[in-house]
Amino acid sequence: MLNLPTPSQKRIALRVTSAAERAIKRGHPWLFESAITEQSHQGKAGDLAVIFDKKRKFLAIGLYDPDSPIRVRIVQRLKPATVGQTFFKAKLDAANALRQPLRDAKQLTNGYRLVHGENDGFPGLVIDRYAATYVVKLYTPAWFAHLNDVLASLPPSALSGISPQRGESQPHRVILRLSDRLKKNPFGLEDGMTLQGEALNAPIIFHENGLRFEVDPIHGQKTGFFLDQRENRARVEMLAKGKRVLNVFSYTGGFSVYAARGGATEVTSLDASKPATDAAERNFNLNFSPPPTPPDKRDESLTLPHAWGRLGGGTHKTITGDAFVEMARMKEEVQRFGMVIIDPPSFARKASQTEGALNAYQKLTKLGLDILNPGGILVQASCSSR
Ligand code: SAH
Repeated sequence: MLNLPTPSQKRIALRVTSAAERAIKRGHPWLFESAITEQSHQGKAGDLAVIFDKKRKFLAIGLYDPDSPIRVRIVQRLKPATVGQTFFKAKLDAANALRQPLRDAKQLTNGYRLVHGENDGFPGLVIDRYAATYVVKLYTPAWFAHLNDVLASLPPSALSGISPQRGESQPHRVILRLSDRLKKNPFGLEDGMTLQGEALNAPIIFHENGLRFEVDPIHGQKTGFFLDQRENRARVEMLAKGKRVLNVFSYTGGFSVYAARGGATEVTSLDASKPATDAAERNFNLNFSPPPTPPDKRDESLTLPHAWGRLGGGTHKTITGDAFVEMARMKEEVQRFGMVIIDPPSFARKASQTEGALNAYQKLTKLGLDILNPGGILVQASCSSR
């Protein structure tokens, strides 16, 4: 057990504006500081706050965060509950059960988001699973006081449904990732530290829809891989056949590998980070045979994991460079693609950055369209919540 703070025995009682009351009733998972009209006493991060309605009836309970405008993150509405290990375990079990179809699927998937923050009743907390490793990412210090309860509730058999022959029988490992605000904390918790199990000494290889990917959950972005794009990657696979595909902001090549399996004739992964494009290259090698032989020299009896080459002699190229510069260059060189994927990092972390972000998105859309064949497909994503 980690030596962490415990929530105060004394719950904070709150009353809120009518608008906030309505929002919470409808299921909004946050209570903003500005919506609090009465508060019993001050508290520390992770203390439990009970919100009462106009008739002084229980409305919701959540985790208190004195240093954030999101003052309470709600974990239970309408029906009172005791928030503790049993409570969190029930929620984790429900989240795990929801993901059962992934584990049952014909095409192996053992990397997925087990807990998707607010959507699974864990506001400000994400748990990703990569094969036998869980990566717990915290976005609010309010979780420190409840972390031991969460860890003790992790499904011990996250590995159920996957046969041990596939190298899945080892006990699980838990790695902690912290958002920037939490990196300095008085509890000795460090970003990337191993909380349970053996320390990692190599990237983890996990499967998604039968494809293999490596992930570095200690140094990688977020928890190491953008598992939340799984369904979009599958969609790209369905649309890529016969196309020359450009994946901009490719990171470790998730969309690229799917496009290749979908029958793209050529895939280019473009990212500013050399470690990312190197990882994209390795992810291709994990899934596809080395450069395909010409059709007349091909040994048809050879079954490769995914014989991408057979679908038209596909190749994978990487470009390490700036997306805006490289796409403008391609436009000048009259390079054209049948599919352009643009999934950039967040451009607006603060409200003051939204205008600049909108400009950047507009620029990217124009550049993407400029290098797209008529009738081609532009896939664009945004992770700027603002
Ligand atoms: N599409 C990826 C996730 C993208 S994360 C996936 O599905 O996995 C954002 C990526 O953009 C990072 O890998 C980062 O290195 C890259 N990046 C940030 N600024 C960039 C720029 N100006 N040009 C190219 N790549 C950039």
